[in-house]
Amino acid sequence: MNKSRRPLIAGNWKMNAGGRDALGLATGVAKASAAYDAVDVVVGPPFTALAGAAHALESTGSAVTVAAQNMSAEASGAFTGEVSASMLKDSGVTWVILGHSERRALYAETDEIVTRKVAAAIAARLRPIACCGETLEEREAGRTMEVVERQVRAFLPELAKEPGFGVIAYEPVWAIGTGKVAKPEDAQAVHAMIRGLLWQSSETLAHATRILYGGSMKGDNAAGLLSQPDIDGGLVGGASLDAAGFAKIAAAAQELAR
Ligand code: PEP
Repeated sequence: MNKSRRPLIAGNWKMNAGGRDALGLATGVAKASAAYDAVDVVVGPPFTALAGAAHALESTGSAVTVAAQNMSAEASGAFTGEVSASMLKDSGVTWVILGHSERRALYAETDEIVTRKVAAAIAARLRPIACCGETLEEREAGRTMEVVERQVRAFLPELAKEPGFGVIAYEPVWAIGTGKVAKPEDAQAVHAMIRGLLWQSSETLAHATRILYGGSMKGDNAAGLLSQPDIDGGLVGGASLDAAGFAKIAAAAQELAR
């Protein structure tokens, strides 16, 4: 972590806690992380719970903000079942996770689609958390840097339009939901490469962009990852479903940020 960037810890609840339990989890996170004022804490409920969670957090005066997990690249129209960036914004949502590996693998989201979504989010003043990361097969073939570079180069020109507004999440696919966390120095090497790509665009973009690590991050491994110079926070799946466990990651970030 570099103290010039404010750490960000974002939860991705995936297709969990979208009903009555969402408000309890969102307000539980708000309470458990209230003391960590040097950290941006974000919860990521499913669509059905976004407005309720955003409203509950706002009405309690919490600094915790809300992320959607996906959105349409289109602004409006005949796209049955889709949700636009402006609809999310109107529902009190601040962030949107885009290009998550599950979207890429299960719903055929290409670099081009992800880039269109990043552009649409920014146009609607919704802050993108743009994801990248290699599969196990790609890692074993020694292609990690090449794959991540390709993914980042696709959406980077959109992020460059407003340095610091968007965030990048590096999530090695083999570490997501597997309990296999990347070694801090291996993750740092990829984050440094991404920072280098941002530098090629502008110094401001490189300094302002937060690059999160995601993949089996938990309270007990967060400090090792977050202490790396180019790891500015975490995108957290499984461990974000428990308010106290999630807050431990925010606590680790707070400790390093001070
Ligand atoms: C994720 O889905 O973005 C993620 C990082 O999941 P987990 O923390 O469960 O590996």
